[in-house]
Amino acid sequence: MAAESPEKLLSPVLSAFWDDPTSWTLETYRAHEGYEGLRKALAMKPDDVIAYVKESGLRGRGGAGFPTGMKWQFIPQGDGKPHYLVVNADESEPGTCKDIPLLFANPHALIEGIVIACHAIRSNHAFVYLRGEVVPVLRRLHAAVREAYRAGYLGKNILGSGLDVELTVHAGAGAYICGEETALLDSLEGRRGQPRLRPPFPAVAGLYACPTVVNNVESIASVPAIIHRGKEWFRSMGSEKSPGFTLYSLSGHVANPGQYEAPLGITLRQLLDMSGGMRPGHRLKFWTPGGSSTPLLTAEHLDVPLDYEGVGAAGSMLGTKALQCFDETTCVVRAVTRWTEFYAHESCGKCTPCREGTYWLVQLMRDIEAGKASMADLDKIADIADNINGKSFCALGDGAASPIFSSLKHFREEYEQHVTGRGCPFDPAKSTLWA
Ligand code: NAD
Ligand code: SF4
Repeated sequence: MAAESPEKLLSPVLSAFWDDPTSWTLETYRAHEGYEGLRKALAMKPDDVIAYVKESGLRGRGGAGFPTGMKWQFIPQGDGKPHYLVVNADESEPGTCKDIPLLFANPHALIEGIVIACHAIRSNHAFVYLRGEVVPVLRRLHAAVREAYRAGYLGKNILGSGLDVELTVHAGAGAYICGEETALLDSLEGRRGQPRLRPPFPAVAGLYACPTVVNNVESIASVPAIIHRGKEWFRSMGSEKSPGFTLYSLSGHVANPGQYEAPLGITLRQLLDMSGGMRPGHRLKFWTPGGSSTPLLTAEHLDVPLDYEGVGAAGSMLGTKALQCFDETTCVVRAVTRWTEFYAHESCGKCTPCREGTYWLVQLMRDIEAGKASMADLDKIADIADNINGKSFCALGDGAASPIFSSLKHFREEYEQHVTGRGCPFDPAKSTLWA
């Protein structure tokens, strides 16, 4: 994609009319062909909708990239149990800011996607689990749900199809772990949010022990356009294994942070070119492809295609497509210390490697940053991270280990400078991030 001009690389679909002050209303959504995908889907058999979404190649936009249609197909049929759809809107991965803006600006895309998904998996009840702190978004989502009920897109006999769908919006209490799908289900059931053992996956035993699809906001909101405009149109963007458009969150030391909608497979260099680049007079030092849980990359990786395969080949993960960019004024030890404090704070405490390991890492990282550590401590943090990674109960532990490994891999010398120089060689006053 390197030869394309920057403008051609934008593909606004979900964000096409965000700058309209009434973008969130049903009237504006319908003026942009809203709910046309639902009409088409309701004329299809549920299994055909699942097959269509599967053939589109849509992959989960919450971070893991699991094929959406395949997840829907896992829901057993004729089992006599209720089926549930749960939308994970508990967006909390550091640097990730695309589902919340999407909900604020275009909530009907999600509601339409929810009804289509419920038709496909034969569910009559859907839930949206939203981050509790985002009260304006909660209010707007409630307003959009009321509009959808009044217009007959939710409730009984939707558009005369015989399909009934009730939608419940639930506000969480602001724990990062409740974004983990099984902790989210526990929280939704009224318990303390802690991860459950998988398998069984939610598709088999999820909400109230019934088959449940848990999907990310962006994944579900992408479905109406796929059904309406066609799977070939969707596949014409992105790459063979990672097709389609997606929302990137660009943040950090960049000239114009924000959400950018472009095909998968674009590069960070292209995104920076179209968005105004790094802040004037500064250069990229390191970045995360998908939030702090994904291994850091450096300026050497500017041309890595931002799709699951490309970022994987570069030794990281695409994750939530949260591109946090740090320039040469940033101390990597300080950045990693901040992230480690976050993981230690958000660790739910259920398993020992994560609960104890993240606490221990914070102590050592603070010592390194303050110039109170020895060279042996650098090996110790690697060893502790190794004892968290893959040995914890859920992905939070792996996420906490990830910035330790990748920062040591790319910036070991900088860690050593903190030890030999008895402190941080960077001037925090020169960095805008830590003010
Ligand atoms: P995962 O790969 O274990 O699972 C992905 C999805 O596929 C889940 O819904 C799971 O139920 C389903 N699945 C996987 N195998 C299955 C099977 N055999 N049968 C049925 N269903 C199956 O990933 P995860 O642990 O759910 O999530 C980790 C990801 O979450 C990370 O990649 C990270 O980027 C992301 N994340 C996102 C945020 C955010 O704010 N959006 C926060 C933290 C982490
Ligand atoms: Fe809880 Fe951390 Fe263990 Fe996950 S890895 S279950 S967040 S203690």
